[in-house]
Amino acid sequence: MPRRIDLHTHSTASDGTTPPARLVAEARAAGLDVLALTDHDTTAGWAEAADALPAGLSLVRGAEISCTAGGISLHLLAYLFDPDEPAFADRRHELRRSRLARAERMVGLLADDGHPVSWDQVQELAGGTVGRPHVAQALIDAGLVRSVEEAFTAEWIGTRGRYWVGKDDLEVLDAIRLVAGAGGVSVFAHPSASKRGRTVGDDVIVAMAEAGLAGLEVDHVDHDEDARRHLRGLAADLGLLVTGSSDFHGTNKAIPLARYVTDEASYDDLVSRATGLPVVAA
Ligand code: AMP
Ligand code: FE
Ligand code: FE
Ligand code: ZN
Repeated sequence: MPRRIDLHTHSTASDGTTPPARLVAEARAAGLDVLALTDHDTTAGWAEAADALPAGLSLVRGAEISCTAGGISLHLLAYLFDPDEPAFADRRHELRRSRLARAERMVGLLADDGHPVSWDQVQELAGGTVGRPHVAQALIDAGLVRSVEEAFTAEWIGTRGRYWVGKDDLEVLDAIRLVAGAGGVSVFAHPSASKRGRTVGDDVIVAMAEAGLAGLEVDHVDHDEDARRHLRGLAADLGLLVTGSSDFHGTNKAIPLARYVTDEASYDDLVSRATGLPVVAA
């Protein structure tokens, strides 16, 4: 039986709703052999996940880094990097600080319009890295919207929406170099997820490959067949590996663990390029 490998998931350390210990248990129950924990801009969930790792499951420690390229927001998956390497650790800290300031501003804009949401409440909803899904939950709790999906529209906190505030993200080419400098491997997360906002052109992916990008996340819920075909072709042309993953967020999104997976050869290739950290096996 080939190993079942899911390389992109979130826990309560960022905007998922499943604590890290439960996430690894659920991953094994879902039939996975390898799970990557990739919370937004943080490594805070790693220790709990590793301590609770069930027999038969391997843990890839990672993070999803908030990046920008020419004003377009994009996400970079960073795997198996040394969390103590200071240059990259400092930047993750800055990213989290920028997220705090911007979430507080979004709450302020909502409150200015008389909507009953408070910063205390949002901070309580966010156990780790704060994100728009926590603000969305506050909007649901206040009865202002019915779903996270509805909160992510132009009337509320959708990108460039009425109560949306941007954050200071990392230039993606700098991010790729920082990940490499910490011994890690980087993969471009959901490169063609157009429903979340603008996406970058192939020219940016070419530049990312030149800067040391290892792969493209192709099999993802936000990619249609055409996007996948195009990305697979691009990966082949640029010598990039291809991954697939659930981008699981617990009840914040409908997608289950292991919905999309990565093939064994790509996974082994990815791991072989890392020098920062080993994979954890129970
Ligand atoms: P932020 O990183 O704070 O800007 O929030 C973006 C996060 O919100 C993404 O990582 C997703 O987890 C989530 N998200 C983005 N778009 C949607 C959407 N349309 N519906 C639900 N969740 C979304
Ligand atoms: Fe998220
Ligand atoms: Fe993402
Ligand atoms: Zn994600």
